[in-house]
Amino acid sequence: MSQLPTLEEIRRAPKVLLHDHLDGGLRPETIVELARETGYDRLPTTDPEELRTWFREASDSGSLERYLETFDHTVGVMQTREALVRVAAECAEDLAADGVVYAEVRYAPEQHTSAGLSLEEVIEAVLEGFRIGSEGRDIRVGTLLTAMRHQARSMEIAELAVRYRDVGVAGFDIAGAEAGYPPTRHLDAFEYLQRENAHFTIHAGEAFGLPSIWQAIQWCGADRLGHGVRIIDDVTVTGDGEAKLGRLAAYVRDKRIPLEMCPTSNLQTGAAPSIAEHPIGLLRRLNFRVTVNTDNRLMSGTSVSREFAKLSEAFGYGWDDLQWFTINAMKSAFLPFDERLALINGVIKPGFARLKWQA
Ligand SMILES: [Zn+2]
Repeated sequence: MSQLPTLEEIRRAPKVLLHDHLDGGLRPETIVELARETGYDRLPTTDPEELRTWFREASDSGSLERYLETFDHTVGVMQTREALVRVAAECAEDLAADGVVYAEVRYAPEQHTSAGLSLEEVIEAVLEGFRIGSEGRDIRVGTLLTAMRHQARSMEIAELAVRYRDVGVAGFDIAGAEAGYPPTRHLDAFEYLQRENAHFTIHAGEAFGLPSIWQAIQWCGADRLGHGVRIIDDVTVTGDGEAKLGRLAAYVRDKRIPLEMCPTSNLQTGAAPSIAEHPIGLLRRLNFRVTVNTDNRLMSGTSVSREFAKLSEAFGYGWDDLQWFTINAMKSAFLPFDERLALINGVIKPGFARLKWQA
């Protein structure tokens, strides 16, 4: 068997990221500095390295609810225009440094208004930050506007996603604790987006099972599934290794509905016991439209390259597999078809070809 790609080599590959939270990817030094500048005094420590460790440990608790608690601090320091511009610019820089050539980064505008910013000011600050951070780098960043599933502002956020769609907002998302807050609560927002020919993804099938995935697709009309890992509950593997798909799993595979999988994040929230046992192995083998993502780079201490390296180690994935995940992601991006094709043929395939040639 040929040698598996190393983390260093994977960093040089042109990668695509569809599921990354802006408030989950801050640099610890930036959190400390922004806390000082904005008078936020609730950080558990003001030492950046200790803070990095604290985030990892708090996120390793095994419950989605506690994992979500760590966001009080990151969101707490992202309440001014300057802070949002800086965090977005650094996000683009960090992703570019990891070799990401196209990213869709999401955040919930309504969580950044407690110091008086309007939703529009929040959105414009983040767009400005991504413009600054992308300049002169081989990366393109779009944003997804997220509505919180336990709140009642999804229609307003969906309208903003449509209003800003030609200037950097690629789509809409819904996030937050799944249990008790089915996506159908926000049906009016999804129906509005469909009438507007707009794109959206829904966090579904992470902590919660098949009904959540079924609602996201068949009631709400989601283009993609955030995580979607529980689709595995509708796949039965018989003794001789043959897989039988239930009707929902078959639908998801037949319609090529993209799964925005985030392996490390799933271990932290308890949605999977280990990388080696993560359903991504089986779903990839069955040729679901699987994509590999980070979710929250700070909380999970990860990057797209690290996720790839972990999967490569656990499943023996070589360059062809990593390219397959990458092209899956690019095909699934909320970007016009011709632009997706240009990135696939002009950047991704030549980039992987160079690495394969060197290997
Ligand atoms: Zn997420």
